[in-house]
Amino acid sequence: MIDPATASADIDLGAFAANIRAVADLVAPADVMVVVKADAYGHGLIPCARAARAAGVTWLGVATLGEARKLRDAGDTGRLFCWLYGPEEELVVPVAHGIDLGVHHPDHLARIAAAAATAGRPARVHLKIDTGLSRNGCPPELWADLCAEAKAAEDAGAVEVVAVWSHLAAADEPTHPANAAQLAAFESAVAQARAAGLTVPVRHLANSAAALAQPAMRFDLVRLGIAAYGVDPADGTLAADAGVPLRPVMRVRAQLLATRRVEAGAGVSYGHTWIAPEATTVGLVPLGYADGIPRHASSVGECAIAGRRTPIRGRVCMDQFVIDLGPDATESAGAEVTLFGGPGSPTASGWARACGTIGYEVVTRIGSRVPRRYI
Ligand code: PLP
Repeated sequence: MIDPATASADIDLGAFAANIRAVADLVAPADVMVVVKADAYGHGLIPCARAARAAGVTWLGVATLGEARKLRDAGDTGRLFCWLYGPEEELVVPVAHGIDLGVHHPDHLARIAAAAATAGRPARVHLKIDTGLSRNGCPPELWADLCAEAKAAEDAGAVEVVAVWSHLAAADEPTHPANAAQLAAFESAVAQARAAGLTVPVRHLANSAAALAQPAMRFDLVRLGIAAYGVDPADGTLAADAGVPLRPVMRVRAQLLATRRVEAGAGVSYGHTWIAPEATTVGLVPLGYADGIPRHASSVGECAIAGRRTPIRGRVCMDQFVIDLGPDATESAGAEVTLFGGPGSPTASGWARACGTIGYEVVTRIGSRVPRRYI
């Protein structure tokens, strides 16, 4: 772990709560499930889960059973939905812990019903229809079977069917034709489930992008991930267009470890991929690709010192990289460098743009060596 004075990811839980509330106001009467998978998108599972609950969030969502287990072990007793588990994973404890499980295939239902019998309580399940993402979810040709089996399992007291749900392929592009097709397929799957005798109290389809930009997708519950963390799902416009002022939650910062003068013609960092065109002062930032700083940021990313942009020069290394402080620099070791997420600094989306990736990847990859400080 890096010393927190040297470098840290500062997590603004007040901003997190404010983002959640802003989206909750927008989507009401639909409810909000805050997605805290992948260590709350790199922001810290338990502190974020607690902050979300304190902000009044009923539902949390995680991908893996391990994540769900961590929440229960930390004392979280609220509604918790988990949707990704392998064919050999044990389901008795999750059912006993009251974790709602996604069901993607009739085979899952039989396993869950067996687990419920051992756990001595019905399993709460959310039936997932594949409406066109072609990733997981029940294939449409098996949907009638899944609904019939779910109804039988419900009648037998083995499961409680809480929801029908699905996931969108192109929600960050609201005019993409996949959206209308998936919406129609979802509505038809819900109708089929109800015709099979299931009440389907909850329908959930929207992620952040759809929750912000496509009101018809909100149904009863939206699964809110990236926007809760203050990163626009579509690089800068969807939240603003919806009138939701997102605040960045993660600020990654470090102290300059050293500065040095380089002359014109000096090669900087591995491979000398950047040659100083004129004499300048460069500064050493003690974070690298082992900490999740994208190597693709080499010579294209930038940081900020007191709001002044300082470009990355040469290759990002495993533990450190070099920024250009300019020919007239006055900074010295100890100066505070913000990589992203601070006032006047680049955003996570800005880094993503420079590196040819998405803001999700920038924040989730900030590594475990970087201490999180909660403010
Ligand atoms: N629902 C599911 C099934 C997901 O996998 C994710 C995240 O990838 C989300 C919701 C949240 O998506 P977003 O972060 O775009 O809001």
